Amino acid sequence: MTKEKIYLSSPHMGGEEIKFVNEAFEANWISPVGPNINAFEEELATYNGTKYCAALSSGTAAIHLALILLNVNPGDEVICSSFTFSGSCNPIRYQQAIPVFVDSETDSWNMDPVLLEKAIKDRIAKGKKPKAIIIVHLYGMPAKMNEINAVAKQYDIPVIEDAAEGLGSSYFGKKLGTMSDMGIYSFNGNKIITTSGGGALVSENKDWIAKAKFLATQARDAAPHYEHTHIGYNYRLSNISAGIGRGQLRVLDERVRQRRNVFDFYKKELAGIKGIVFQSEFEGAYANRWLTTILIDPAQTGFDREKLRLTLEKENIESRPLWKPMHMQPVFQEYPSYTSGVSEKLFETGLCLPSGSNLTAQQLSGIVEIIKNT
Ligand SMILES: *Cc1c(COP(=O)(O)O)cnc(C)c1O
Repeated sequence: MTKEKIYLSSPHMGGEEIKFVNEAFEANWISPVGPNINAFEEELATYNGTKYCAALSSGTAAIHLALILLNVNPGDEVICSSFTFSGSCNPIRYQQAIPVFVDSETDSWNMDPVLLEKAIKDRIAKGKKPKAIIIVHLYGMPAKMNEINAVAKQYDIPVIEDAAEGLGSSYFGKKLGTMSDMGIYSFNGNKIITTSGGGALVSENKDWIAKAKFLATQARDAAPHYEHTHIGYNYRLSNISAGIGRGQLRVLDERVRQRRNVFDFYKKELAGIKGIVFQSEFEGAYANRWLTTILIDPAQTGFDREKLRLTLEKENIESRPLWKPMHMQPVFQEYPSYTSGVSEKLFETGLCLPSGSNLTAQQLSGIVEIIKNT
């Protein structure tokens, strides 16, 4: 008999989700409009301390709409963190714009503000000022937003925060996704909370969010028939999914505490192994610890991250290398990048461990034992 699979991060319902879904069934709001959508938007904005919110079909759709709202057009350049998941930068290409990748710094693993300024200066010198900056808060760890916003302001370039992995984290008390022009979240099945699939765009700018909702519902103008002056998208969240989201929001802070406990457990139990390093919170950072990530120095541990990954896989336990930087991806290699070696090194040595809020103490102890015996 094979052992039950342990996933990297699996959905964890709180109990109230089904109540909101049932309400949708009873009222027959089985649709991309309905009361759960409006309530979910309000509740999410309130949770994050921001003003306006559009519930969407995915985090990727949210980034796409953010780029459209910022007038990113074919041939424009958009700066993006290189160390991320492709969902951050694919929408740049949907707009036929050019991604310009910027490497990470070592505390947060997120975009290096010094390298960002260097990239902006160089792009301007080459004749093109970037139209937008996409900053990713990877693994729920805040990017150095104060420094990044200062650079962005100096050159007057709008910032989109990709907080797909960062819901529930904060930086100097402010929730990730609310510290710049626009923020996006993802509610995919593997994220800290899920709507089965979904996303959101938030902003303090009322007009942007109104326009996002308009574009996300096929850009239908006010008329009894279907009248169109814009190209539209089918990017709205369904009222059923929003019901799941409302239930999930009610347990979000608990999920953050649980994931932080998972991180603390690994850190404490593996403290004796020289050559395994955990990512620390730096000044101002409060991380949701969406995934617990470790860096492995094979010279000290006697095994590299691939050996450990395969060892865990044999026991039906899922682990995963850190994100492969976008400037190394075949599909993005041709685009400009400003690199320092930091993200390449992270990719080479890093591993994500199972981090779900629903892992049992027994499962966690089992994983730790396997790592100790590798
Ligand atoms: C998951 C994710 C996305 C995309 O979100 P979807 O809802 O899956 O489209 C974008 N950026 C990052 C960093 C992510 O982890």
